[in-house]
Amino acid sequence: MIKEIKQIAKLLKKAKKIALFTHINPDCDALGSTFGLYYALKQLNKKVDIYSKDPFTAVEKVLFDESVIKKTLCRTKEYDLFVACDVPSYFRLGEYEKTFHENQNFVVVDHHQNAGLKGLHNYIDPARSSCCELMLDIIKMLKVKITKEIASCLYVGLSSDTTSFVNSNTNSKSFQTASQLINYGADVCALNETLYHTRTRKSIDFKKYLWNNFKIKGDCAYCVMPYEELSRLKGKKSDCDGYSTSLISIQGVNYSFSIVEEKTGYFSVSMRSKIGYDVRSKAELLGGGGHLCAAGVKFKAKDMEDAKNKVLAVIKKEN
Ligand code: AMP
Ligand code: MN
Ligand code: MN
Repeated sequence: MIKEIKQIAKLLKKAKKIALFTHINPDCDALGSTFGLYYALKQLNKKVDIYSKDPFTAVEKVLFDESVIKKTLCRTKEYDLFVACDVPSYFRLGEYEKTFHENQNFVVVDHHQNAGLKGLHNYIDPARSSCCELMLDIIKMLKVKITKEIASCLYVGLSSDTTSFVNSNTNSKSFQTASQLINYGADVCALNETLYHTRTRKSIDFKKYLWNNFKIKGDCAYCVMPYEELSRLKGKKSDCDGYSTSLISIQGVNYSFSIVEEKTGYFSVSMRSKIGYDVRSKAELLGGGGHLCAAGVKFKAKDMEDAKNKVLAVIKKEN
């Protein structure tokens, strides 16, 4: 692993113009790792840009400077190195998939089971809880000052990918990294306030919907949000983030999922499992992916009933 860290740091130091990418619909780990690296590279006086087409959530807008992000297509000729953070596959790069197909001059930093995206050098370790943990290793190797700003970005990703050190991916390394980031200046209380104590009235309406409408089948709990309901509640997919995580907390439930119909016929599934149960393989059967205990997939289906049956079928299949 140390070899990959050194090789990636060497390429980053050598490059003058660097473009950073993360996965579609970026979460706090995706943005935290990308922004952490961005600020580190700025210290080295690199020309560095972050590309992402998707809008930030309300919490992400508070934590990360969205104005930095380039939402245009990337002109590959303008850069001499490309970095993918928290991305295991070409598909998860969304519209920037082409950028990575067009040239091999890229590196990958990620904690997913790799699904095909590999570049010149790759620091990939699925045993680590978040991409931000791995990014700290890279940034240390760059020998820049780890500022409060960098530490905060990385802490946010670590905290949110472990759901505040609760998920089964939490281990001694996660706590060690958290401790180091606090020593570098991450203000844990302030960040927790933004991450976990800023519920809006609208988010309460969405929680109400969850607890009034969830179902349990065998050891699986689920909740579906059809497009008409989403419109009635004046919400969007991100308002349902956390549904599957809430449902997995139920005693006796080993699998949970939520399905949001983002637009008529287009379904987004979020899956969770308790330790010892694997949702990644089930998401993969439907064309998605993720981690053992947290995975997801998007697909088209006839209607919500059809979508729900597809997910229930794969969960039943391997049980
Ligand atoms: P979520 O349930 O949206 O929090 O996603 C949980 C994890 O599943 C993410 O961290 C991703 O690694 C993975 N994931 C979510 N959606 C997809 C997808 N469409 N394809 C592949 N992996 C996904
Ligand atoms: Mn992510
Ligand atoms: Mn992640």
